[in-house]
Amino acid sequence: MIPRVLLAALPTPIQPLPRLSAFLGGPRILVKRDDLTGLAFGGNKTRKLEYLIAEAQAVGAKTLVTVGAAQSNHCRQTAALAAQLGLGCILVLSGEDSQPSSGNLLLDRLFGAEIVWTDRERRSEKLKMVFDEAWQAGRRPYLIPLGASNALGAIAYAGAFDEASQQLSQVQVDWQVVASSSGGTQAGLALGARRALWSGHVLGISIDEPEHDLKETVAFWANEAANRLDQKARLRPEDILVNADYLGEGYGVMAEPEKEAIRLFARHEGLLLDPVYTGRAAAGMMDLIRQGLLRKGETVLFWHTGGQPALFASGYSGNLPLSA
Ligand SMILES: *Cc1c(COP(=O)(O)O)cnc(C)c1O
Repeated sequence: MIPRVLLAALPTPIQPLPRLSAFLGGPRILVKRDDLTGLAFGGNKTRKLEYLIAEAQAVGAKTLVTVGAAQSNHCRQTAALAAQLGLGCILVLSGEDSQPSSGNLLLDRLFGAEIVWTDRERRSEKLKMVFDEAWQAGRRPYLIPLGASNALGAIAYAGAFDEASQQLSQVQVDWQVVASSSGGTQAGLALGARRALWSGHVLGISIDEPEHDLKETVAFWANEAANRLDQKARLRPEDILVNADYLGEGYGVMAEPEKEAIRLFARHEGLLLDPVYTGRAAAGMMDLIRQGLLRKGETVLFWHTGGQPALFASGYSGNLPLSA
């Protein structure tokens, strides 16, 4: 057994989206509500942090150090966890100190995280420096990688796959669709699917990585997780399904496809997506439905990985005609 600290509100519910399915004239769509995992508005990082924090505690860590974008959900959840456990927290964020307190950044500041700003290109260099300084200062830092994606993060999502399978034991699911960026979430789902000999497909909608790179990353972490679990399952990059057609103008740049997805989920189901991850993944899923790849008669499980606080920092007015 891999040590784990129980933090998340599990199992997260699975809900049907009948009005959206009917509007799209496509497959039955179910949503796995991993936006309800808990830890300051929830999201997929909570499951991963259950395993990473167990390792941090085992090595006697006193400060959590991690990295992300200014509106990183992962950093916000890490800051909340540090506050909950009375640990220090240092976040290396790309952007500038002048950024207004809104969305996730407001929450990071509320949780009392120390924020070190840097450019995106120098983020990992800066992370290393900050970690070394904290170490030398005797603060017992524990490094959490970008997006908490490593073997432990993937193990968390292999478990999430099992959880969803149990909930859906009476339902034939053809596809699982998930927003994929640092890759740990998809790696876990892909490993879970493989070891269960599941007959459906786990499809990652890439948020910011080219298809080739993301397949490599996902396969790598799936295999690291399998090793750590002493399981024989192995995945090759070509076993991983990634669609990178929806990168738009890059990470965090919300455009019409994301806005449309956010609007349709809101107006047909009263459900909120986020502008960076689930908005983009849902836009991709809807496009694949319109293209006929995800077909009427099939069942799709869409993983809601969270991220809604970023909606409040996105500048989206939401104020478009009802027919749109
Ligand atoms: C981090 C994140 C993802 C992507 O998960 P990875 O494991 O990094 O691929 C998806 N959705 C939301 C809301 C996230 O915060």
